[in-house]
Amino acid sequence: MSSHPVYQSLDHHVGGTPLIRLKRLSELTGCEILGKAEFMNPGGSVKDRAAWGIITRAEEQGLLLPGQTIVEGTAGNTGIGLTVIGRARGHDTVIVIPETQAPEKIRILETLGADVITVPAKPYTDPGNYNHIASDLAEKNGWFWANQFDNTANREAHFRTTGPEIWRQTAGTVNAFAASVGTGGTLVGTSQFLKSKNSNIASICADPYGAAIWSWFTHGHLDEDDGDSFAEGIGQGRITKNLEGFQTDAAYRIADQTALTIIHHLLHEGLCLGLSSGINIAAAVRYAMEHGPGLTIVTILCDSGLKYESKIYNQEWLFDNEFDTDLPLESVLG
Ligand code: PMP
Repeated sequence: MSSHPVYQSLDHHVGGTPLIRLKRLSELTGCEILGKAEFMNPGGSVKDRAAWGIITRAEEQGLLLPGQTIVEGTAGNTGIGLTVIGRARGHDTVIVIPETQAPEKIRILETLGADVITVPAKPYTDPGNYNHIASDLAEKNGWFWANQFDNTANREAHFRTTGPEIWRQTAGTVNAFAASVGTGGTLVGTSQFLKSKNSNIASICADPYGAAIWSWFTHGHLDEDDGDSFAEGIGQGRITKNLEGFQTDAAYRIADQTALTIIHHLLHEGLCLGLSSGINIAAAVRYAMEHGPGLTIVTILCDSGLKYESKIYNQEWLFDNEFDTDLPLESVLG
């Protein structure tokens, strides 16, 4: 009998990303520091998994009907994921984005075919916040609201895909997993799966300054959120439904300079990453220094640095914002 290959559309090709050894940092720490190459997803980021999970569950539950429009409030990557995966499944997207976001992102979304609505930046507590506007639009127009922050199909996607992939790719030898928090879907879903396999696997939260999640996991309150960060897509100030009921084993606050030193060094290993990836890797390294050597530590390479070229890879911008690109990689170990 001849067997025929089965070809699948784009929405079937989310995940299955390589696990990349970060060579120099592994050598320096005596641990295997491994990065999951999420920038290789169809929409170019880790958020493709959440988009896939939210769309799939909503379709299964009859909450998202054939041809129905998806609306979401997002600063970028989730909007891109919802647009490419949504369109592959026959759904149009309306993306509500704060006008403070980089114009590059708005152009990418428009190029991909999203209907983009820019709104003034308002805090979550304000009814004019971009998430509330997305929710109102859904109600008014009969659209499906993805609700990435509080829709637990997000963390479930990581439980079903990211966690099992890491478990298989490390042949069950993984000792720790580190991730930063936007919605919390990546950190919680992946950690919950790994802990279901081996409760000794440590879950590590990597937080930028200006966010409150380090404070939550360390002190049990959200009061310490001082400082600021240029990292986009992360930096949370409340306990989303995707974070609810979970406790990490370690949490670190990472300065932008540390993350920047790491991602600039990784250009020498052929990797060009965004700042949130640097924050993730820095937390993996901190854990390696405290608990290694000999550990296998996995983290997330969330998206490509090419999306932020005009900032974190632009000498003029770096100089204006007082970053130092000449620090030795060893400086991040201390
Ligand atoms: N890094 C980047 C670049 C992101 O866009 C996001 C999601 N907004 C994250 C990290 C965090 O992922 P999560 O929402 O799963 O916490």
